[in-house]
Amino acid sequence: MTKLIFLGPPGAGKGTQGKIVADRHRIPHISTGDILREAISNQTPLGIKAKTYMDKGDLVPDDLILELISERLQAEDAKDGWVLDGFPRNVSQADFLSNLLEKLDQKCNGVINLDVPDQVLMKRLLGRGRKDDNEETIANRLHVYREQTAPLIDYYQQHHLLKTVNGNRQLEEVSQELEAIFNA
Ligand code: AMP
Repeated sequence: MTKLIFLGPPGAGKGTQGKIVADRHRIPHISTGDILREAISNQTPLGIKAKTYMDKGDLVPDDLILELISERLQAEDAKDGWVLDGFPRNVSQADFLSNLLEKLDQKCNGVINLDVPDQVLMKRLLGRGRKDDNEETIANRLHVYREQTAPLIDYYQQHHLLKTVNGNRQLEEVSQELEAIFNA
């Protein structure tokens, strides 16, 4: 059963690679960023609250995210596996997830840390053209990543779940390595 977390800075390829793995294994690709962007475009109360944080490149407060992820992981289609992309983003979210999975009698099988140098990230993100992909917001998102999300690398290493993959390669090379890891 595939229950995977994709970790890595913005622009590392979590969305692209996460979707490929999810499609291959016929399990949902759960991206908190996608859920929030959808909420913004539908102008839901969640979207309205999240928008100011996202526009600045700051993390949305945990209380807006935790309930959402708890419901999403208990949905029928997530019973047999999932790929998490963009969650957890800090240690308190990771602790919440670990308690939730214990409660649901589920286990995460691995955390993929996609490693890409900063200069490459900046170039990729500027080329992507999303609303929060301007130079100032990107710089803040990379800063937020280093401060709040990167500590999860040690966190999951200590839980013996971490696998670091060089994400600074062609899309196919990265996805082939990921598949080899799952088939090993
Ligand atoms: P992403 O699509 O994962 O790059 O996320 C885009 C933006 O959504 C981030 O810059 C945050 O503002 C927000 N976001 C996504 N996931 C989370 C999360 N797990 N916790 C807090 N904020 C999040």
